Order: sequence, then structure tokens, then C-alpha cells
Amino acid sequence: MNEVFKGTFTQQEPIPDEGIAAAMDVLRSGRLHRYNLVGDEPGEVALLEREFAAYTGARHALAVTSGGYAMATALRALGVTPGDPVLTNAFTLAPVPGAIASVGAVPVYVGVTEGLTIDLDDLAQKAGQARVLMLSHMRGHLADMDRLMAICGAAGITVIEDCAHTMGAAWRGVPSGRWGKIGCYSTQTYKHMNSGEGGFLVTDDDEVMARAVILSGSYMLYERHGTVPPAEVIERVKYDTPNVSGRMDHLRAAILRPQLRMLDAQCEKWNARYRVVENGLRDTPGLRIVERPEAGRFVGSSIQFLLLDWSGSRIEAVLARCAARGVELKWFGGAEPKGFTSRYDSWRYAPHPAMPESDRILRAILDMRLPLTFSLEDCAQIARIIRVEVGAVWQAGVSHKDRVATS
Ligand SMILES: *Cc1c(COP(=O)(O)O)cnc(C)c1O
Repeated sequence: MNEVFKGTFTQQEPIPDEGIAAAMDVLRSGRLHRYNLVGDEPGEVALLEREFAAYTGARHALAVTSGGYAMATALRALGVTPGDPVLTNAFTLAPVPGAIASVGAVPVYVGVTEGLTIDLDDLAQKAGQARVLMLSHMRGHLADMDRLMAICGAAGITVIEDCAHTMGAAWRGVPSGRWGKIGCYSTQTYKHMNSGEGGFLVTDDDEVMARAVILSGSYMLYERHGTVPPAEVIERVKYDTPNVSGRMDHLRAAILRPQLRMLDAQCEKWNARYRVVENGLRDTPGLRIVERPEAGRFVGSSIQFLLLDWSGSRIEAVLARCAARGVELKWFGGAEPKGFTSRYDSWRYAPHPAMPESDRILRAILDMRLPLTFSLEDCAQIARIIRVEVGAVWQAGVSHKDRVATS
């Protein structure tokens, strides 16, 4: 009998007990708003900001309502205005072009490589078209950040990093989010820390931080932040920076602080699961592993592989056969956006000139979450199922071709 996987791909771990206890204290206090403090207590949000700044090594951290909000705030803080072009990845998720569109700016898509990173040759070619790059480290695949920063430096492009999938990751030891001027993170349930909704922005730049604090809805209570830019910088920006409320509250911060202390250990657990699936899929005929570069420390909270140049109907057969055995794969090549798997030509509010080389890769990408509720044995079983089902469809295709060739 064929084995069937019984786990749930969307089931995250419970909030740690310490976080639940801290959340209960906040609830009992009635003071959920970040600026509702008593005496000289710093409050959960400011403490979390200090701890996240220390974790990333950034001068400043701002806790906000979502990763998408952090990205829009980053763009506003850099003075991006309606009609401005902003370079970004063709392979990413909808909140990224959405953040660009939310400030009236216009995404200019840069292609994707077989390593699932931004295509640096394409970036070099398009570098003259914008002064900001919203770089999405989609699914945790880090581009060669040294080369990327050299291209952007030479062209005068300011880099914002979307680290929704790289919280805890690094390139050559420098944390993701610390290469560009601003790093943006999400603490939404499916990311590396879970507060339901939430996010961070980090930067070393006092003026960016001052603008971001005022933008986030500080009611001029910026002194209550975890990291506070110098008063004269705030004075310079505070009258011409609008309030676009998106503050984090103490309840979410209380839930996140213990998770931040566990983050590195959690990343190890993700990677152990990732390696089991990766090894289980290695040398499957017709299936291409997306290798992780030596210089990158990644977080394997999801895994991707390529069925390069397979027809749509054969990929759909793989999806259906895996689904029938409890393994939920997502495909970035579908004609219509499904769940989270939209693509650059699904976002019709923005121009999307054809990108045939990227289309070939997008059509090949299969994607799977690896929640920490899966055991290593679960991961081994998932890999066995994918291997058998990819193999079955591949074999059928090969023998079909053989038949065509010999008939
Ligand atoms: C989740 C996600 C975001 C934004 O996060 P939200 O907190 O949901 O706004 C940004 N980029 C990518 C690639 C994401 O997956």
C-alpha cells in the first residue's frame, strides 16, 4: 500500500509558554497600546525593538503591524513618491509589488535565475531605470550580495531588503537586512516568528528611522521607542512626515520576545528538516535541486525544487499525485494565481513586460512549506512520496517519448 502523509502544512508550533504568560500580563494590565506606559517602564514593544536591533546589529529597529507595512514605510522614508519606478523581483509574493503600489510607485521587475535569486545581469541592465531596489530574498534564496551591492552602489541605487523569508539568515556572516539601507521583516504566522500579524524595519540611518517612527504613528511620543534617533534629526523631519498608523502593540511584542530568544535554535531545526527533504530528493530523475550557496546561511522554512522544461500537464499530474498522498506542493507556473503563488504577470495594476527566461523558471518551481511541527521522519516520508510520484510521471513521459520516437 502507498504511504500517505498525515501532517498539516499550515500548522505552526504553539506560542511558547513564556510568551503566553507575558501576553496574559499585558491583557491583565489593560495597557495594550505601545505608548500606554506607567512610570518609567519601557514596555514590551520598546524592549522588543531593542532586542531586535541587538539581534541584527542595527542601530535602530521599529516594530510595526506587518511586513508589508514595513516595506511601504521604508519606501516612504526614502522619499519614494507616486510615479517613481522601483526595481523589484519578478519572483516574489504579492505584498512586495503591493507595497510599491501602495505609495503610488511603479514596480520594474528584474528576472529570476535557476538558483531562484534575482538575476544580477538583468539588474545591471535595468540599474539606470530606478533609484531604489526593493530586494526580496524570496524563499530565503540569497543572491551574491557582494556583487548586488556593487551594482547598486555604482548606479546610485538604495537597497531595501525584504527579509520575510530570511529572518535569521546571513550572507558571508552579515545578517540579511543589514546589506541594504533598510531591512524589512514579517512576524506573520507563516514566517520565522509568529505574532499573527506584525513586522520590523531596521536601519543604521538616523533620518530614515526618524521618518519611519513618525510615519508609523508616533503621536510625537517617539522618546518611548526602543531605539531613538537624535532629537535634532527628529526636529528636522517631524513637521513634514505624515502619520500613517501601523504601530505594533504590547500583546504581540510580549508573544515575540521569547521567540526572538529561540530564533537561532529554531533556524537549526528548520535546516535539519530541510536537509532531510533535500537529501531525500537528490538524484530524482527529472528533478533539479536548488543548491544553497556556501556563502549563505539560510533558514529552511520551505523548500523549492525545479521540474525544468516539464509540460504544464505533467507538472499538474505530479501535484495531483502528491496531493492524493497528503503532500501539498505549490506551483508558481499556474495560469492563474492560486493561494499565495501569484507571479509578476498576475499583478495587472503594474506594467509587466514579458520575461521569457524568467517564465521558463517560474513554470518549473514547486514549493513546499516545512513547519516545525513536522518531525525528521515526516520529512523523510514526504521526500519519499515526492520522489516516487515525480518518478512515475517522469517515467511515463520518457516512455511516451520513446514510443513517439520509435513509432
Ligand atoms: C509574507 C511576506 C511579506 C510581507 O509580510 P506581511 O507581514 O504578510 O505583510 C513580504 N514579502 C514576502 C516574500 C512575504 O512572503
